Amino acid sequence: MPVIDLRSDTVTTPTSDMRAFMMQAAVGDDVFGEDPTVNDLQNMIAEMLGKEAALFVPSGTMANQISINAHTEPGDEVICDYNAHIFNYEAGAPAMLSGVQLHPLHGENGHPNADQILEVLRPSDDHYPRTTLICLENTHNRGGGTIYPIDKIQTIRSLTRKNNLKMHLDGARLWNASIETGINLKDYARHFDSVSLCFSKGLGAPVGSIVAGTEEFIEKAHRHRKAFGGGMRQVGMLAAACIFAVENHFERLAEDHQNARILAEGLNKIKIFDVPLSTVQTNIVIANTTSESSNAYEIVNHIKKKGVLAIPFGSHKIRFVTHLNINRDDVTNTLELLNRIFK
Ligand SMILES: *Cc1c(COP(=O)(O)O)cnc(C)c1O
Repeated sequence: MPVIDLRSDTVTTPTSDMRAFMMQAAVGDDVFGEDPTVNDLQNMIAEMLGKEAALFVPSGTMANQISINAHTEPGDEVICDYNAHIFNYEAGAPAMLSGVQLHPLHGENGHPNADQILEVLRPSDDHYPRTTLICLENTHNRGGGTIYPIDKIQTIRSLTRKNNLKMHLDGARLWNASIETGINLKDYARHFDSVSLCFSKGLGAPVGSIVAGTEEFIEKAHRHRKAFGGGMRQVGMLAAACIFAVENHFERLAEDHQNARILAEGLNKIKIFDVPLSTVQTNIVIANTTSESSNAYEIVNHIKKKGVLAIPFGSHKIRFVTHLNINRDDVTNTLELLNRIFK
């Protein structure tokens, strides 16, 4: 029985063309800055983001944590959304590695607005932590792959300029936001002091993330990457996979978005699911399960036995993600199967 894996866009496997491209990559010692393919990737992304420099890192978590570390001092406070990846899924790293505390806000779809941020900025007084950094996430994972409205970002940027705060973008899926809105990466990135991107999600590379910013920021980030254990050697082959992913799998994200839409509309026709369609903006579908149905964990276990994998998000939500290894037939087959089970 073929398995349809809708758990995450991280489950994609490298295509044979990608593998062939990886094989021929020139390599060198990247800790010495001598891996030509890593340097090509870093230059390519710095250019695409309109930043001075970029640094290749093993994971999105490391990209975010290096950035937090570079922008703050221990004891500082970092503002983010309550559902942010850095707050929920990075193992408490801001406290563990940088000695900062997070101040989470309840933003709409994971997108706090400038007024909410203004309200919690700390006055300069020795009683308080110093607010130094705002982290936004675009698209927002727990928000259902929702796109941060660009005008909201602009307003926050004016606020942070006035108050001398740094801004970091967790752009693990900024690719998806850009394809969907037609706003290019640069026009998002120019509002931030640092931007992280993942190649290992919808773009389909086996591993790799990157962080970009000023030369000065990247110099610090380079040191912190080493300290966090992320200095890598002949990783040109991995960087090649990332270059291949950007060149061949970026534009096609639009297909994932169409598939997610079809999946969401189909789920809405099944009585145990309810998907607020306004939140289905990219490749993530978060379906609410009705209170009469069994809980999300049981539903996920049940459909797993029939060959469809998804992830429970708490007891009444299930996340489905479309990606490179999911085609239109997989979506049709998933809906047929769920219709049969939950009629
Ligand atoms: C996946 C993801 C990351 C990075 O995760 P890693 O597994 O460390 O690469 C960061 N932010 C968001 C929003 C993500 O979805």
